[in-house]
Amino acid sequence: MVPKQIKKVIKIFSDFPTVGERTATRFALYLLGLDEKSVKEICDSLVSLKKEIKLCSFCFNPFTPLKDENICLICRDKKREQTLCVVERETDLWRMEETKKYQGLYFILGGEIDFLKENPLGKLRVEELKKRVEGLKPKEIILALNPTRDGILTMDFIAKILKPYEIKITRLGRGLPTGGEIEYADEETIEKALEGRR
Ligand SMILES: [Zn+2]
Repeated sequence: MVPKQIKKVIKIFSDFPTVGERTATRFALYLLGLDEKSVKEICDSLVSLKKEIKLCSFCFNPFTPLKDENICLICRDKKREQTLCVVERETDLWRMEETKKYQGLYFILGGEIDFLKENPLGKLRVEELKKRVEGLKPKEIILALNPTRDGILTMDFIAKILKPYEIKITRLGRGLPTGGEIEYADEETIEKALEGRR
């Protein structure tokens, strides 16, 4: 009884992170209520998201290339310190950049270890991280994952993997509440956590 076009859109939204079928249905009906121009605008912006944005080939930060460069503005900035801050996801990098309290380079790991999964490492960019560390030889690696249980276990794992490189490895200090998220931390908290790294 639900038209197949609506069903299809519900299915698409249901696959989005954190969206269940009920919300997906509301999204589909919301779109149905929009005029055609607005729907086209949404479609166009989705297409340009894929067409115009690249992932930085060093840190994996999404960026808009001006020509055909493969490296984002942060990684291209020669004035940046040669420290490597490992974050879980894009939004952590963006938040840290907003605060302007960190002057080094980043690496987006792409998640945390999920011990409940058959393949706990999932899509974690562990091999890529090793390559960046070998190539850059940073003077310090800052593990800046969220201090949740899984985040801490992931940092333990990464620290072990990177130990053979004999580079100073630190973690954000106190200030970030246990279980807290970098993405939502205020400027002062991030500054303190960076200063207190050990
Ligand atoms: Zn980059």
